[in-house]
Amino acid sequence: MAHRYRAFDGSTYDNLTLELHGHLFRIDKRTSLPQRNAAEFADFTEEGFRSLIRQLKSCGYRFARYRDLGDDPHVIWRHDVDFSMHRAVALGQIEAEEAAFATYFVNPRSVFYNLLEPEIMALVRRIAGLGHEIGLHFDAGAFAVTRWGEVDFVAAVNRERQLLELALGSPVRSISWHNPDLTNLLEFEADEIGGLANALPADTGAIMYIAPIPTATGASSRCRR
Ligand SMILES: [Zn+2]
Repeated sequence: MAHRYRAFDGSTYDNLTLELHGHLFRIDKRTSLPQRNAAEFADFTEEGFRSLIRQLKSCGYRFARYRDLGDDPHVIWRHDVDFSMHRAVALGQIEAEEAAFATYFVNPRSVFYNLLEPEIMALVRRIAGLGHEIGLHFDAGAFAVTRWGEVDFVAAVNRERQLLELALGSPVRSISWHNPDLTNLLEFEADEIGGLANALPADTGAIMYIAPIPTATGASSRCRR
């Protein structure tokens, strides 16, 4: 058995097979993503992220706020913070270093972070302190509603906005949908919902929506519009 363990742990062998009671068991030393995925996400790094921002800036794109779009070449740089406020701060820091602006949509109903936890709210405030905007990431999954009517929907958006503003201590001006295919969220495509700028309005004809952040090399180093 000791001999077999050394074979499994060596550089030549990635797995151990054992035949016990007529059954063959295989134990893999490591699991790796399929090669295709590994290549696809090779630039999904902080450096790749920084490089993408630099490319956009060098191509003359302005990082715009939702309420300040204009006719010049611009990008609307948005993060829906679904999982980690700590990682959000890391990206916000890179953007600030590159003099880029982003909107961070945070979810008061998140099961992965709690906006009322002082450490998390300190991170949100730090993102805002870096010059970025904090918006509402509206989570329809938190409500026992399968189909929204306009009045009820705007009332729910307003309550969520007040909740976030109370926690944040500053006004919220924009909104994005968490899991937009839940309920009939996508039917609400006005530029503004309950006074908040809609991150996914109907009039997105000239907007190229990119998600997740593409690889730096995939975005091409040339400027294309
Ligand atoms: Zn989301």
